[in-house]
Amino acid sequence: RQEQYQALRSLPSRTKDGRDIGLYLNAGLLVDLPHVRESGAHGIGLFRTELQFMIASQFPRTSEQQALYKAVLEAAGDRSVTFRTLDIGGDKVLPYMHKIEEENPALGWRAIRLGLDRPGLMRSQLRALLQAAAGRELRVMFPMVAAVEEFDHARAMMEREIAFLRRHGKPLPDLVKLGAMVEVPSILWQLDEILARVDFLSVGSNDLFQFLFAVDRGNARVAGRFDTLSVPILRALRFITDKAAAADVPVTLCGELASRPLEAAALIGVGFRLLSMNPAAIGPVKAMLMEVDAGELESLVTEHIAAHADKPLRAVLREFA
Ligand code: PEP
Ligand code: MG
Repeated sequence: RQEQYQALRSLPSRTKDGRDIGLYLNAGLLVDLPHVRESGAHGIGLFRTELQFMIASQFPRTSEQQALYKAVLEAAGDRSVTFRTLDIGGDKVLPYMHKIEEENPALGWRAIRLGLDRPGLMRSQLRALLQAAAGRELRVMFPMVAAVEEFDHARAMMEREIAFLRRHGKPLPDLVKLGAMVEVPSILWQLDEILARVDFLSVGSNDLFQFLFAVDRGNARVAGRFDTLSVPILRALRFITDKAAAADVPVTLCGELASRPLEAAALIGVGFRLLSMNPAAIGPVKAMLMEVDAGELESLVTEHIAAHADKPLRAVLREFA
């Protein structure tokens, strides 16, 4: 198998009917970096910046953050990297941060909420990113955006940092692209507004699924209760890909769904052309997509969504496979 995947590495990730699918990695640590080249991925679709914070014994300094981001960009070479700003809080706790007792941490003070309320933390990170990407493109996305105003606020912070560095004569990125994660259901009802503001979107299916079904992603008692390929989630995903296509804004899916070939086939059927996944999934997902017809998958999924058929899509796709 490994050899078979190796052989695919240099081939284009194209479906039988000629649709190009961008395959990207989810990463977060230096040890992930060799995978960028080894896997033949198009780049890093999700760099989880909180991991550096989680393994540290105190808040990493701006210079330490900058050094990591620079190493990531160097390892990626001319491939693109999408950095996600700190996604701490909820299940991602920092041992050295004053612990706040919250009844529902998943719904609490986390991710962009924390970043906007603690601007010192966010600004240090944005400055580190801008300096690390001097002379090249910088792509940054914000996690857990629940209202478009949060994105506006975060963008204003980025603009302030750019102005600050410019004033001090520091080199800047050639281009800064900003995106939002789609993982809180409220943003589904602000898609037109968010699409008018962003350069790209990235769907975090782990959290989107958790919040759509009100099912804790870490609670084994309930986590398997609903199928990740059931009609409500497929309809939500189709709604996103349709809106993004109409607005001509690229949309990636970067949750665990993209890491399993059958689920990835469903995602292609739902309209995704950019998938970001665990490094080990690139080979199997690529092998799958080179064998399928995206048009056929699209018809199959469209029909399934419309009919809300009794037979689960999972079973339909297995037969198809
Ligand atoms: C997600 O929620 O799907 C996601 C990609 O982010 P994380 O798993 O880090 O919350
Ligand atoms: Mg998430």
